[in-house]
Amino acid sequence: MKVLVINCGSSSLKYQLLNPESGELFAIGLCERIGIEGSKMEYETPANDFEIEIKQDMPTHKEALELVINAITNPEYGVIKSVEEIDAIGHRVVHGGEKFASSVLVTPEVMAAMEECSELAPLHNPANLLGIRTMQELMPGKPNVGVFDTSFHQTMPKEAYMYALPYEDYTELKVRKYGFHGTSHKFVSGVAQELLGNPAESKIIVCHLGNGGSISAVKNGKCIDTTMGLTPLQGIMMGTRCGDIDPAAVLFIKNKRGLSDKEMDDRMNKQSGILGVFGESSDCRDMEIAAAAGNERALLAENMFAYKIRGYVGNYAAQMGGVDAICFTGGIGENSGKVREDVLRGLEFIGVELDKEVNSKRQKGNVLLTKETSKVKAFKIPTNEELVIARDTYEIVNATK
Ligand code: ADP
Repeated sequence: MKVLVINCGSSSLKYQLLNPESGELFAIGLCERIGIEGSKMEYETPANDFEIEIKQDMPTHKEALELVINAITNPEYGVIKSVEEIDAIGHRVVHGGEKFASSVLVTPEVMAAMEECSELAPLHNPANLLGIRTMQELMPGKPNVGVFDTSFHQTMPKEAYMYALPYEDYTELKVRKYGFHGTSHKFVSGVAQELLGNPAESKIIVCHLGNGGSISAVKNGKCIDTTMGLTPLQGIMMGTRCGDIDPAAVLFIKNKRGLSDKEMDDRMNKQSGILGVFGESSDCRDMEIAAAAGNERALLAENMFAYKIRGYVGNYAAQMGGVDAICFTGGIGENSGKVREDVLRGLEFIGVELDKEVNSKRQKGNVLLTKETSKVKAFKIPTNEELVIARDTYEIVNATK
């Protein structure tokens, strides 16, 4: 079985061709600057360490997907003879609203429902839908499956996902917490469950820390709360997003500075977070280097970043009545021992005993970061969202055969 996984952004497209059962990766790559001058595609086949960069105009996602298909079927460096070898296509879809609590086979009705969710993710869903339509055109008859960032969080109880706004804002406008990064939270909490020895009951906290970041509380395999909300702006401080603030500050700043809605939105989404506080970069590595060199604003950003994450770890331990494992994933969670140590500092009272030496070493794969005696385990677990998409696609296509 071979599944092509497609993740369409507004001007980019990530792809992987993989075996959903073994996880074997045949080809992986990225198309950038779609619809912008200077578009290019990266293509890699890990089995033989082959890498190529193809510079070619890609006015739309259609040309990008055609290039991907040409590369994977190329007689010289391709990995399949023809697209007939591809069994199904799995698509990342950012917002599934309340309509999709799990992945689905794409049908005309499903497309219409996804279309309705576009209002909740106007920057992402239209690009995801375009990817599906293009694949239907380029590979007619092949099953397409939609895998939603929001669906893993649909198990949250109402008291966790409701905002204390007038109730009709929920019933009429669908304003509530949805959560994002669901495929990553699902994958990482599943691996943690295995690393814990598959106990009958488990309380797991997943910290997905990348440019965007979110935390989730997963009790007995089900998400009971997560930090992102109606949009990916809520929750912890991120690379360029502010995370939780007093909502009244939004109108205050907007009025005082005379900003348009778009300018205020950009201020909170693109100019805040690590970038806003540190002032020089949104990148965690730059922040760490500057903080170590004594830059006060970098140090403040570093301390705020860990403080906010630690707050949610405590919150979720309280909501679950304890915690068995705290997991770190995403570019920062997987690579920054400093962030992990800062977050876990002070959590000895709930039973976390960090092994500082192990935590500071760079090791591949899943790593136990706490001492053998630690009541609460901490793990570094590399995420693999594409594998979740491929597995869901495989299961759904098999079930409908
Ligand atoms: P995205 O959310 O865009 O997928 P990633 O998961 O790739 O982002 O994470 C990007 C972040 O990971 C950046 O802030 C980057 O600085 C950070 N990062 C990557 N490697 C390291 C490292 N060795 N130490 C600290 N931070 C790192």
